[in-house]
Amino acid sequence: MFAVGITGGIGSGKSTVADLFAARGVSLVDTDVIAHRITAPGGIAMPSIAKAFGPSFVAQDGSLDRTRMRALVFSDDTARSRLEAITHPLIRAETERERNEARGPYLMVVVPLLVESGSWKTRVDRVLVVDCAVDTQIARVMRRNAFTRDQVLAIIARQATREARLAAADDVVVNDDVSIEALSMDVDALHRQYVALAGA
Ligand code: ADP
Repeated sequence: MFAVGITGGIGSGKSTVADLFAARGVSLVDTDVIAHRITAPGGIAMPSIAKAFGPSFVAQDGSLDRTRMRALVFSDDTARSRLEAITHPLIRAETERERNEARGPYLMVVVPLLVESGSWKTRVDRVLVVDCAVDTQIARVMRRNAFTRDQVLAIIARQATREARLAAADDVVVNDDVSIEALSMDVDALHRQYVALAGA
């Protein structure tokens, strides 16, 4: 099935935009949701994580201790690579499984780190980037997650730059000071284009 990968920096509005496509009957496969599911209690990544990192990274309920793991991988790139070597193949396999079950004219895969993690670009037919100013990202994420400005900046610093993301884009939705109504009109135009490209 024709697949559009949607990406954008933290707080750019990719979930908001993806939901507008879903409202038009497009199947969504969200790699963040899958990442959470495989590290939830009984999640398929948990045995390997427990083996590689030790039981202290497993919470009482059997899920990943996210706070502890976040702190580790934030400062330790080797640990990050070890974690990703476990999770990424599982996320890819689960994504494929959901893709095969998808209904609708085409499907949209939500991949926050599509530009950063190279291989995703080859797994989708088209890349849609949701773009906004860094100041907008900061304001939104401070509000949404109750993060400090520095916390948001630290996350943004680990993500691709706005320029790198735009360079990888086939299509762009600009989401700065945009009403949901205006966003919906952009989504309508893109949706028509994707339906045509999908030959659906
Ligand atoms: P992402 O998934 O890229 O991290 P979200 O879609 O969750 O971003 O958007 C971040 C926050 O900003 C959310 O609280 C969302 O409701 C809000 N938001 C995004 N776009 C708009 C917009 N055009 N107008 C108003 N609020 C928006």
